[in-house]
Amino acid sequence: MVEELLLNLFIIKIPLVLLLCLRRPLALSDTRTGIVFGLCCGLTAAMCMMFPIQVVGDYQLDFRYIPLGMSMMFAGPLPGMITFILAEASRSAFGLEAMLYELPSDLILVASVLLLRRYYKEVSLIRKLWGSAIVGLLAYILCLFNLYFYMESTGSQSAYGINVLLGIGALRVAVSMIIPYLMEKIILYNLIQHRLLKAERLNMVSELAASIAHEVRNPLTVVRGFLQIMRNNSEDEKSRAYMNTSIEELDRAEYIISDYLNMAKHQDEKSDMLHISEVLTQTVELTRSFAVIGQVELILHCEKELYANANKVQLQQVFINLLKNAIEAMPRGGEVEIFAMRLEDQIVINFSDNGEGMTPDQLRRLGTSYYTTKSTGTGLGLVVCMRIIHEIKGTLQFFSEFGQGTRAVIKLPAADGVKMIS
Ligand code: ADP
Ligand code: MG
Repeated sequence: MVEELLLNLFIIKIPLVLLLCLRRPLALSDTRTGIVFGLCCGLTAAMCMMFPIQVVGDYQLDFRYIPLGMSMMFAGPLPGMITFILAEASRSAFGLEAMLYELPSDLILVASVLLLRRYYKEVSLIRKLWGSAIVGLLAYILCLFNLYFYMESTGSQSAYGINVLLGIGALRVAVSMIIPYLMEKIILYNLIQHRLLKAERLNMVSELAASIAHEVRNPLTVVRGFLQIMRNNSEDEKSRAYMNTSIEELDRAEYIISDYLNMAKHQDEKSDMLHISEVLTQTVELTRSFAVIGQVELILHCEKELYANANKVQLQQVFINLLKNAIEAMPRGGEVEIFAMRLEDQIVINFSDNGEGMTPDQLRRLGTSYYTTKSTGTGLGLVVCMRIIHEIKGTLQFFSEFGQGTRAVIKLPAADGVKMIS
């Protein structure tokens, strides 16, 4: 029995190895890879059945539910069905009668995994593991029922006592927690690797673009100088007008390039005494065009004399990320209200939206790297915000109600504005 158990434990790791070899993260969601994964899980289930623990007659216990669950949960209903059909076909080859006994309970199991799958992406890892353990336990209880009815109908006796059967049950529940844990870790590892490569490539491209932008600026300045001389020397009104337009357009190009270079260059993290209302007003103006597209109105109420020690670019980045999230949470438009005030020795800045809000579970996961509910999201915005706010010894808190809206509250140590002026 121990040999069969060990073999089963070894076999169920085959789909994990396949997952490790995938080149793209989350590729399981594309149909072809999903089908390959479903087939692999089906074969794994069949292999589990080749080394079963024979309990009574052709009734056997094995770990085929694990690859079946993996395929249903992580790859989707179609790959899951492929695994299910392969597993049931192999089961009938190893004993048709027992397979028919197990079919209803297998179907209950498949339905419960599919039901769980709808909530799986939304919840925290711990809950996922508890969910998997409950399904694992359910699977084993159903198995024991089948065994009981099988023994009743055939009048035979189990080869193992209750202790052994309970031991196998405990092992199966433990494995149903360990395997999804490993799957989650592998998927996360693939995702991080993919994002690192992408970030590296983007970094290279942006450095290249910055150097080209820098090189282009010099000839533009020369051309502008000569155009200016020609304009000053020209008598013809029409030519002067043309040259004026050309100079204006060159200035615009220069302005765009400077802006890009400012954004691309590495910012030093030097802190300055910042006039918060000024920074907030600038940021709101920067974000307004994005808000207009989403039919969102930005309303700012800010006390005038608020000062804090921070890096301007970084603080602006925090405000932009929070505003962008609030706007994105209102796909049918709405309002974002921004309040900033001083409370004793703190500056409190509130960003309130009336968007889709978050469930307590989503709220708990905020700020976790790569946690996003958006198809094009990175899940890094709030991580960066929290790091920046933490560095300037402030706090960032979220209050949210699902379907009602979200409030992000930043608290910063207030600085004395008079010192800045002197
Ligand atoms: P991203 O915006 O790329 O998804 P973030 O770290 O900025 O990454 O946000 C993580 C997740 O937090 C979002 O995907 C969203 O689900 C949730 N979230 C953040 N802000 C809000 C908000 N104002 N309203 C509702 N959900 C929010
Ligand atoms: Mg964001």
